[in-house]
Amino acid sequence: SVPLSFFGGIGGSSKKGILVKGSNYLEALAQAETVVFDKTGTLTKGVFNVREVNAKDISEDELLKYAAYAENYSNHPISLSLKRAYNKEIVNDIIKDVEEIPGHGVSAVVGGKKILAGNEKLMVKENIGFSKENISGTVVHVAIDGDYAGYILIADEVKEDSAAAIKKLKELKIKQTIMLTGDNKQIGEETAKELGIDKVYTELLPVDKVEKIEEIIYNNKGKVAYVGDGINDAPVLARADIGIAMGGLGSDAAIEAADIVIMTDEPSKIATAINISKKTLRIAT
Ligand code: ADP
Ligand code: MG
Repeated sequence: SVPLSFFGGIGGSSKKGILVKGSNYLEALAQAETVVFDKTGTLTKGVFNVREVNAKDISEDELLKYAAYAENYSNHPISLSLKRAYNKEIVNDIIKDVEEIPGHGVSAVVGGKKILAGNEKLMVKENIGFSKENISGTVVHVAIDGDYAGYILIADEVKEDSAAAIKKLKELKIKQTIMLTGDNKQIGEETAKELGIDKVYTELLPVDKVEKIEEIIYNNKGKVAYVGDGINDAPVLARADIGIAMGGLGSDAAIEAADIVIMTDEPSKIATAINISKKTLRIAT
């Protein structure tokens, strides 16, 4: 049977905006030794600002317009940001054959032209030739009817709370913090360094993230928690010993798949949850 103090633990967490779906998750969390984070939307705000538009044969406005139209039906943080940057009404009925390609970007027919908007992986997959520049940042490449049309350089910011979140985990004797991201190597490594995260794996597809978490679980003795927010994170949340969703702006799929939901946007609540779990377990045993 479940010791009474566990209910105290669950109740105490919910007062702090931490929803625990069962006492077994609190027990597992007390034994966590590794905490793995998603980057975009979890440790960063997931709000990208446009830094630069580099168009080849069309105007910058047109490039941004095609990208915003192609992204119109996606809820990815990148899509929302591009639509915000475009900041004009989008005429839905010229958008057809929309396809979202996880970890890559989107494809859509806009005004009869086939638009691709996404990362380098998407361009390679679709055989779009382009000269590789050394661009520092998150880049959305755009192709129109099979030809490279330019790129949009965007940048996200880390959440104010993220560095403190990692620091607190170290104070709680968490052995290892890891970041998994679909974003590029440079941005991933920069962010991990800035936040004091021990290890980072970048340019991962959603399926790669599941494989990575399995590998981490296999190679580490203690329990492994994964913290994520997006639709793509749901399978990883389900696979981790403890799946923790950032519920503030998190997707329904992530909240559904998680064992624990942080109701606010603050990653430092992970440390709060671990603290509560440890205290609860100490009382219970
Ligand atoms: P993460 O949350 O780790 O950044 P995602 O799998 O959501 O992971 O995205 C990984 C990468 O795939 C993004 O950094 C971006 O380059 C590309 N991408 C995914 N979805 C889109 C989209 N809708 N538009 C443009 N690029 C996208
Ligand atoms: Mg994310």
